[in-house]
Amino acid sequence: MSMRHAIERARASAAVPRWPDKPREECGVVAVHVPRPLDIAALVHLGLFALQHRGQESCGICVAGGDEIRIEKDMGLVTEVFTEERLDKLRFPAARTGIGHTRYSTTGSSLRFNAQPLTVRSNKGLLALAHNGNFTNAKVLRDQMLGEGAVFQTTNDSEVMINLVARYAHLSLEDATARVMGEVEGGFSVVLMDRRRVLALRDRHGVRPLVIGAFPDGGYVFASEPGALRVMGAAFVRDVRPGELVVADDRGLHSRQVLPGEPTPCAFEWIYFARGDGALDGAPVHAARVRMGEVLAAEAPADADLVVGVPDSGLAAALGYSRRSGIPYDIGLYKSPYAGRSFIAPSPHLRDQKVRLKLAPTEAVAGRRVVLVDDSIVRGTTSGRIVQLLRDAGALEVHFRVSSPPIRFPCFYGIDTAARQELAAATMGVEAIRERIGADSLEFISESGLSRAIGLSRTCLACFTGRYPAGTPEGDSEKASFEQVTVG
Ligand code: SF4
Repeated sequence: MSMRHAIERARASAAVPRWPDKPREECGVVAVHVPRPLDIAALVHLGLFALQHRGQESCGICVAGGDEIRIEKDMGLVTEVFTEERLDKLRFPAARTGIGHTRYSTTGSSLRFNAQPLTVRSNKGLLALAHNGNFTNAKVLRDQMLGEGAVFQTTNDSEVMINLVARYAHLSLEDATARVMGEVEGGFSVVLMDRRRVLALRDRHGVRPLVIGAFPDGGYVFASEPGALRVMGAAFVRDVRPGELVVADDRGLHSRQVLPGEPTPCAFEWIYFARGDGALDGAPVHAARVRMGEVLAAEAPADADLVVGVPDSGLAAALGYSRRSGIPYDIGLYKSPYAGRSFIAPSPHLRDQKVRLKLAPTEAVAGRRVVLVDDSIVRGTTSGRIVQLLRDAGALEVHFRVSSPPIRFPCFYGIDTAARQELAAATMGVEAIRERIGADSLEFISESGLSRAIGLSRTCLACFTGRYPAGTPEGDSEKASFEQVTVG
């Protein structure tokens, strides 16, 4: 490892804890093609800013038009990486096409050379690709290609796909991409570009989201979430369908259904990941979160005086719990707008202070029996600290309600849920978790209740059930131990 890579690795591991106490979205993607030259860099930058919550380790933008193609990417937040000076490097008069990416990582470590978009020179010209999700057979494909003499510069899945596309030298970019869609497995959405067009695709199960928008003056945009379309000034057209390949070029928008679609989108998009200001696969996100709270109130009532949500992700479900139960809702916790990922506890004994730095209880909880609603419990460490915060502020009782079922299994489709041994519910029953977090009662929404709240006929629930709709990586050791999990 070079000195620079070693320094980058150290920085990355210091800034973001490897196993967070919330599941983490892997990535967000944006892709744009317009009929006339435009400030594509600024447009993609806006889209990435709107998708910052989907990845905070690195980001990148690739812009093309005429004979030019330029790329800038680095470690850091969108606002840190893309200064005016850096955006200027991406500006040129003929720019009409671009893709962008925000990234976390589980496959491929947190290093600059793994930042996306990835580019490759091929007989099709320079190609750039960015993806969200995981290819479950990436290792098998990579080993095959290495055996055939291929050389890889990164450790992430995108490079496998872009190399596969480039290898079909006799096919057009569109045909090669369609061919590769049948070879990669898992849960992912991908955007790909050359100098004249952008391509967008979803895996055959539609696990990761991808939507299409249209600009009022012509041209199209693809993005991980509809919120990014609004910020970029585009109108929502529709979701990319599972197994569909959509191309935006000077002929407009055209699509082919490459693989039979079988929609099983990630339930966690509605629980926690996605912005609340849009709908994915036809199901509005905010309304689903409120319904999760309503379902929780029906499934797990509590004798209490006040409903409080853990900001920000537990607030909508807390509102739903309050509406359904009739127990008043109030702001019982304030979140500091400045305590982001940048605060690093200087020593282990100060880690408890991290929650106090981020969340402050209000006087509303004093002398009250509180229902505390959050979206998930991963390790339980943070949940325990929040319960203690409320008790210290005078709460008489704390009844913890969770708008996702217990997370017992890892995700293989692009979500960092923590290692299995770190998941509280993989090794402990509900009563043991309740004891660990110090709540007076603890209840989770049921799997069927969650599905009712989202309102789709099928969603991926694999991290709760261990049933993986898009398969698991071959030879993964955790997969072998799924059957041995006992939950008391
Ligand atoms: S396993 Fe869980 S986090 Fe991963 S895609 Fe399925 S529902 Fe989403």
